[in-house]
Amino acid sequence: MGMNTQGRPTRMAGNIAPDNLATGGYADTISGSRGLDQAEALIFERGAMDRCGVDLPEPKGLKTRLGGQERKGEIGLPGLAEPETMRHYVRLSRKNYAIDLGLYPLGSCTMKHNPRLNEKVARMPGFADVHPLQPASTVQGAYQLMGELSHWLMTLTNMPAVALSPKAGAHGEFCGMMAIRARLDADGESNRRRVLVPESAHGTNPATAVQCGFTVDEIPADKTGRVDMEAFKAKLGDDVAGIMLTNPNTCGLFERDIREIADLIHEAGGYFYCDGANFNAIVGRVRPGDLGVDAMHINLHKTFSTPHGGGGPGSGPTVLSEALAPYAPVPYVVENGKGGWELVEHMDDAEGDPFGRMAAFHGQMGMFTRALTYMMSHGSDGLKQVAEDAVLNANYIQARLSHVMTAAFEGTCMHEALFDDRFLKDTGVTTLDFAKAMIDEGYHPMTMYFPLVVHGAMLIEPTETESMSGLDRFIDVLEALATAAKEGDTDRFLAAPVHAPTKRLDETRAARQPVLRWTAPTDTVEAAE
Ligand SMILES: *Cc1c(COP(=O)(O)O)cnc(C)c1O
Repeated sequence: MGMNTQGRPTRMAGNIAPDNLATGGYADTISGSRGLDQAEALIFERGAMDRCGVDLPEPKGLKTRLGGQERKGEIGLPGLAEPETMRHYVRLSRKNYAIDLGLYPLGSCTMKHNPRLNEKVARMPGFADVHPLQPASTVQGAYQLMGELSHWLMTLTNMPAVALSPKAGAHGEFCGMMAIRARLDADGESNRRRVLVPESAHGTNPATAVQCGFTVDEIPADKTGRVDMEAFKAKLGDDVAGIMLTNPNTCGLFERDIREIADLIHEAGGYFYCDGANFNAIVGRVRPGDLGVDAMHINLHKTFSTPHGGGGPGSGPTVLSEALAPYAPVPYVVENGKGGWELVEHMDDAEGDPFGRMAAFHGQMGMFTRALTYMMSHGSDGLKQVAEDAVLNANYIQARLSHVMTAAFEGTCMHEALFDDRFLKDTGVTTLDFAKAMIDEGYHPMTMYFPLVVHGAMLIEPTETESMSGLDRFIDVLEALATAAKEGDTDRFLAAPVHAPTKRLDETRAARQPVLRWTAPTDTVEAAE
């Protein structure tokens, strides 16, 4: 087996290397392709620096107007003809697993179907072709759409303000925590810098807190998978800025004491940040504002079905309570009282005391359009049913699999079914092996080893958009795999995935020594010499 300069196995014609199978290589065909699964080299290996996809004559008498700023060196990108370029990207896309291809049970990700109606509306020129610097009078419809989306988000959460501009969930966390920080500073409480974060939290929560200049104090989970109330109470104090809590939490469970948690954190002088990534489980049923939440991001790309994961940008609008609303970042849209809309863009024009801005412009217009389309096409009753069906589907999985897999906690779950690896005890199969075997069966694995409070966690979130027959097929496969593991068919797991284009990757090495840039083979040779 050859290696290219990136450390990736190469497959030259004639290079038949069955031993590659074991080493994460390729099937033993001459071309490296396997039927319709085409082998694909890097674009740098397919194209060449001295080739160009278009054939333009050298311009005559060209005078540059770049004032000496023009590129002098080679651009360093390979040229390919249009059909080659097309094929390169289509081949790559076919290696990707996608929600349009099959069930995507990644817990805490809400990989639901993205209705095509959303796409149709997002492509309407009035939304798709606007420019953020266009005069306000020419983009009134876009502003109105942002205003209506804000209205829906505030209504669904019962919160008085929303910042639309954060571009992902983690960015929304940043927005909410900055608002909390601004409020504390305004009140002369800059000594409050400790943020309580349950140990089951998504990694972005502690990362956000630290990024905003807070320290993180971890709250343990109790044996039911929820916040340990005694530990929480013991941590309250006059240096506490707030709590960051996910509800339903990442164990797929509703925090039953959430009202008491909100009251206690407020009494202690802190604020309640709710991570709203799991809003899909409660949308239309529970309004976070009623629970005492001060700030919560909403992942439009989860709950409101805008594409995500390789499929598009995220969007993390953040709702704010009365206490934090004055610190909301610019820009935001307001009705101007003359039947039109305005964008408040500058800090000086804002009514409150914005902590700053989150993005150069207004946020992800395409996502706003898709999310509002989704909301309006479902209606309030439809959104409520979304939550109900999402929870029903997860409980169906938990109920049907609990006899072969071990549910991490007792009782019903919310929108995700959480299993641990006790059912694999003494089988020689790990959570990772089990997940790899799912790939061979054509399923994207569930979220693994998260949340950290559960040993060998397997977090399955089916969402409401899977049909019962689709769930049954998935459950049948997991049931059969769990049975195979228990019956000693260990090899099938240790060898998995055998049908994927690449096998087990050296993830540690990939993380520690990432190769992020292509370097020309000759450069490497010279460097070595
Ligand atoms: C997805 C997720 C986030 C982060 O959202 P991004 O849009 O990926 O930045 C935060 N918390 C939880 C619980 C999540 O599931």
